[in-house]
Amino acid sequence: MTGTAHTTDTPRRPLDVLVVGSANADLVTVVERHPAPGETVLGSDLTVHPGGKGANQAVAAARLGARAGLLARVGDDAHGRLLAASLADAGVDTGPVLTGGAPTGVALIAVDGRGDNTIVVSPGANGRLTPADVVDARAVLASAAVVSLQLEIPSASVAAAVRTAVAAGTRVVLNPSPPAPLPPDVLAACDPLVVNEHEARALLRSPTGGAPATGSADAADPAEPADAAGRAEALRRRGPRSVVVTLGAAGALVCGPQGTEHVPAPAVEAVDATGAGDAFTGALAWRLALGEDLASAVRFAVRVGAASVTRPGAQTSYPAADALP
Ligand code: ATP
Repeated sequence: MTGTAHTTDTPRRPLDVLVVGSANADLVTVVERHPAPGETVLGSDLTVHPGGKGANQAVAAARLGARAGLLARVGDDAHGRLLAASLADAGVDTGPVLTGGAPTGVALIAVDGRGDNTIVVSPGANGRLTPADVVDARAVLASAAVVSLQLEIPSASVAAAVRTAVAAGTRVVLNPSPPAPLPPDVLAACDPLVVNEHEARALLRSPTGGAPATGSADAADPAEPADAAGRAEALRRRGPRSVVVTLGAAGALVCGPQGTEHVPAPAVEAVDATGAGDAFTGALAWRLALGEDLASAVRFAVRVGAASVTRPGAQTSYPAADALP
């Protein structure tokens, strides 16, 4: 089973993976219980962690050995400098990172004693990464074998990046998270579209391929295929060249022109699944950039996802290639 192998017979491009997406500072405090509206509670000392799906994917790929870059926007502030430094430290090419226009995106995270989170995201500069910024970076997009996207930046910028990548012959990997409508040509360019089960259901419920306008994406829908493989195939009929559905501890499904294959994940002792999907997708994009077929790339990516859940945090949990189960 393969998606289209775009890179096998062509010379290696300067970048393996260019991630176009978000970079956030995650500000975390532990509380005994969450405040009710109007109430104040005290939390533990603040910890600040680099996050954002875009930055996570770029770090995951770079830590494995990929030549990975990030096209993102951060604020001209302390959080922006912290993120740029941590990306560079992980080996990510930060040349395409743009600065200014709004404060750096932050996620305000309160974790209670039971491990339940409340999260407020202020997208800040992520929301100011414009289609014009993306088009200005077309030479970088063309220099990468694979461009990997999520939906934490404006959808018009995602569409501009996908169209620019397609024009340059750069393979497109897209994780529609958080789920949102995707234009048909953007959906059709995905090779693969990478979704978890929640995202798969959300996309299937929207006639435009995006999130439903109302209701829970996980509520039962009699018209929906009953099993994950059926949902993967139904999603592929919406246009993507290939679809990958991540299944947590159960691994992933690969759905391409030759059918659907289940790739189990190695059994590990999971301590924290935060950012596992981003580790998976960053790893997948890198292996596709090296010219691997889709099923082989997924077999590698499930090992990276599994390794990431054995340690706490997102980027802090991402493994080097010699530390895989
Ligand atoms: P997140 O939102 O936490 O980033 P996700 O819902 O997008 O994650 P998952 O399907 O939970 O993505 O996990 C992605 C991949 O990580 C899985 O395909 C699998 O390879 C690996 N993984 C996740 N949880 C486990 C687990 N408990 N044991 C082994 N592997 C796991």
